[in-house]
Amino acid sequence: MNHFRESILSLITETSANLPSDVRTAIQKAIGAEAEGSRAGLSMSTIALNIDMAVDRVAPVCQDTGMPTFFIHSPRGADQLFMQQEIMEAVVEATRTGKLRPNAVDSISGKNSGNNLGCHVPVIHFEPWDKDDIEVRLILKGGGCENKNIQYSLPAEIPGLGRAARDIDGVRKCLLHAVWQAQGQGCSPGFIGVGVGGDRTSGYELAKKQLFRRVDDTNPDADLQGLEEDILSSANTFGIGPMGFGGKTTLLGCKIGKAHRVPASFFVSVAYNCWAYRRLGILVDPETGAINSWQFRDNDEIKQMAEGEGIPLTGREVVLEAPLSDEVVRSLKVGDVVMVKGAMHTGRDAFHHYIMHHDLPEGVSVEGGVLYHCGPVVLKNSDGSYRVTAAGPTTSIREEPYQADVIEKLGLRAIIGKGGMGPKTLAGLQEHGAVYLNAIGGAAQYYAACIKKVTGVDFLEEMGVPEAMWHFDVEAFPAIVTMDANGNSLHREIEADSAHAMESRG
Ligand code: SF4
Repeated sequence: MNHFRESILSLITETSANLPSDVRTAIQKAIGAEAEGSRAGLSMSTIALNIDMAVDRVAPVCQDTGMPTFFIHSPRGADQLFMQQEIMEAVVEATRTGKLRPNAVDSISGKNSGNNLGCHVPVIHFEPWDKDDIEVRLILKGGGCENKNIQYSLPAEIPGLGRAARDIDGVRKCLLHAVWQAQGQGCSPGFIGVGVGGDRTSGYELAKKQLFRRVDDTNPDADLQGLEEDILSSANTFGIGPMGFGGKTTLLGCKIGKAHRVPASFFVSVAYNCWAYRRLGILVDPETGAINSWQFRDNDEIKQMAEGEGIPLTGREVVLEAPLSDEVVRSLKVGDVVMVKGAMHTGRDAFHHYIMHHDLPEGVSVEGGVLYHCGPVVLKNSDGSYRVTAAGPTTSIREEPYQADVIEKLGLRAIIGKGGMGPKTLAGLQEHGAVYLNAIGGAAQYYAACIKKVTGVDFLEEMGVPEAMWHFDVEAFPAIVTMDANGNSLHREIEADSAHAMESRG
């Protein structure tokens, strides 16, 4: 098993940087479905470019590489302790080289371990099987889509769809609601894995395992196959679209498994995965540890996804350079495409919590500035400077309790994130003259290329790489105004329209 660690490192690198063949095919269809020049079309073009860039740079498709989760089938006699140790070593090495973002955070202190090792991290499930090879499967599922997982206990009253009983129609209502509640926050278009039955824990595990089915497979259970097709076509009438911007493609795949349950319980567990659906598998020689074959790779063929160079621009894009004035910001309207240049600062969960009770470090001012909800992957150069290797937006709604106050306190004029924010922030934007700009979720390579320089960093020691306040100099950083300073919100509109579309399927 001398080669086992090297095989796991290849699996991590490939999973992080190079989407599986069946996922690429599904995304290609979605690119073709969205109108050129639309918000959805712009999103899909950026996604396509980003997928190609990740392969070229051997860098994460999305900066959030999630909680590395391995499912291993091993034959009789395989040394599981050895495999566990080697997987941990490979995870540390992949983190050091930026294939994985350091994501393991102590749940109480918030301290990042810095190497993706921690209590129960990485997640490794071992199961025996009667074949000779060792099968190792890995899924990298980021927090934005993990947060949109949902579990229902039937019978239940499903908002907008009425009573869901303990039957297949009840499951159908749960799944329609599961897709609707995700809106664009889990970086749609997405995929769902569903576990019907089991208990609360095994139901979620079954749901996640469904994400290891091929997008184009057929469920051997005819009833479940019918339901999978029904959910896929129904969800795509909701009009949520890529990133929740509106559009034809909301869901790219639905896979349902079932497990026996106890008479008292009926759980429907849903694992939502974003378009950056990173899962691969390898079959490993149990003697040498070398890779015998890959799973979810058709003919080892890597097709280019993007057509042409760059994202399609119209020339009507508005260039925004901080410090921004009240007048400029109030002239922006929902739907405007902007290109940000100059200074940009990151801040996410730990930063928002901290800044409510403390001031910025001395000498740091973001008055009139642009705050980016982003937890980048950043590597240190030998001369002590930093380089950003992945930097897409994170889900903004988590900052809803703080955002309006932080805008006022720091004098911010623009917030960039993904998935939109709620009424408190919308009121804050109006009161203080600021806008919310939606970047394309998961486009970590595309946005990393827009960052020309890291000009500084604060709170690195206390908060760790993803949560630190990074200061960037950016160029031609595209985003769409989805909440303006005049009280308009595209997210509120899409949520209401898609609720009507969902209700009509009740
Ligand atoms: S694409 Fe979006 S939801 Fe998926 S991991 Fe990246 S940020 Fe999270």
